[in-house]
Amino acid sequence: MRVKKIIVAGSTGSIGQQTLAAARYLGMRVCGLLAHSSIKLLEDQIREFSPSCAVVVDEEKCKELKLRIKDLDVCLLCGPGAIEEMIAKVKPDIVVNGITGIAGLSCTLATIRAGKTLALANKESLVVAGELVTRLAKEHSVQILPVDSEHSAIFQCLMAGTESEVKSLILTASGGPFFGKSGEFLENVSVEQVLKHPNWEMGEKITVDCATLMNKGFEVLEAGWLFGVDLEKIKVLIHPQSVVHSMVEFVDNSVVAQMSVPDMTGVIAYALTFPERAQSVIDELNLGKIKSLDFFEVDDKTFHGVSLARKAAALGGLYPCVLNGANEQLVEMFLCREVKFAAMAKILDDCLANLNLKNVEINEENIMFADDLARKYVVSHV
Ligand code: MG
Repeated sequence: MRVKKIIVAGSTGSIGQQTLAAARYLGMRVCGLLAHSSIKLLEDQIREFSPSCAVVVDEEKCKELKLRIKDLDVCLLCGPGAIEEMIAKVKPDIVVNGITGIAGLSCTLATIRAGKTLALANKESLVVAGELVTRLAKEHSVQILPVDSEHSAIFQCLMAGTESEVKSLILTASGGPFFGKSGEFLENVSVEQVLKHPNWEMGEKITVDCATLMNKGFEVLEAGWLFGVDLEKIKVLIHPQSVVHSMVEFVDNSVVAQMSVPDMTGVIAYALTFPERAQSVIDELNLGKIKSLDFFEVDDKTFHGVSLARKAAALGGLYPCVLNGANEQLVEMFLCREVKFAAMAKILDDCLANLNLKNVEINEENIMFADDLARKYVVSHV
C-alpha cells in the first residue's frame, strides 16, 4: 500500500478523529492538521502525528497553542489564507475535509485550486456551491473522493456499468431515531432523544439532520453534483439496519448495492487508499447473523428534509445555500433548546418562500451573503 501524505481538516471533530484512527491503522503520513478551536485535543494530535504544519482557525486559541507547543518544531498558522499556505508548504497527496457546515467551503476550494485530491466529508461544499466546486475540480483535474457512506457506496457501485447505463441512484437512510413515529410524537421530542442515533456515531449537527431527514435531503443534492445525475433520478429508501449503504440501478433493471457494517472508518480508509483497498479495516459483515434487511418508502408527510432539499434545488441558484444556512442556524438553536424539533421544517419552508434571491449570481461572496441572510431570517422568525 502506498503511504500517502495527508492533511486532515476538522481534525478534532468526529470525521477528523476517525480519519486519524484510519491513518494510524494504515500507516499514512499525517503532514497537516486543521482545527477550529479545540486546542487541547489538537495538541495531543500534533504530539502523536508530528505534522510539519497546523492551522487553528480561532486567533486567540492559536496564540494559546503556540505557547503550549513551544518545544515542538511545527509551523502554526492562523487567519485568512492559512489553509492555502499549509497546502503549499506540506504538499499533501490528499486533503480530508471533515469540517462541519458551510465553514468547510474555503478548505474545499483551496484544495481544488491547489490541484490536490480531495476526500470530501463536508457535504455543505456541494450543497451551497455544487456548480462552482465541480467546475473548478474539472478545470484543475482534481478528483473528489466522497467521504459519506452513501456516496462512497454509489462511487463503488458505479464501477459496474457505464455512465449512460445508469438508470437511477438509490440512497439509503437509516430513518434516524424517529423512524415510524407520527407528527404528533415529534411535537415533544427532546434534544437527548434526537442525539441518540441508532446506528452511526457522528457529530451533533449531522445527528440532528438525520432525525429530520435534512441530512438525506442534502445528500440527494450532493449526489447530484458528485455524479452528474438529475435529481429526479435520485431516490431515497429507508433502510433501518444501515448495512446497504446505497445502490445504483442500471438500465437493464439490475441493481448493484454496496454493503458493510456501519462504520465510517471503512469509508474514510477507502478514500485514503483508493484505488487500492486495505486489509480488514472494519469488522466483517455477517449477514447470517443480521438475517434480514428491510426497506421502506420515506414518510414525506412527517419528515420534510428530502422534500425541502428538492424544493430548494428546483428554485435553483442560491436557494440550496439558503436552506443550508437556515438549517445550520436552526440546528444550533435547537441544540440550545431555543426552538422545538417539530417547528423547524415550517421555518425552513417559509425561509425559502420569503427570501428573494432570484437571478443573483453564484459566487463565493454571494454564497456567504445568502447564508447570512438565511441565518438572520431564522433568528428573527423563531
Ligand atoms: Mg451519509
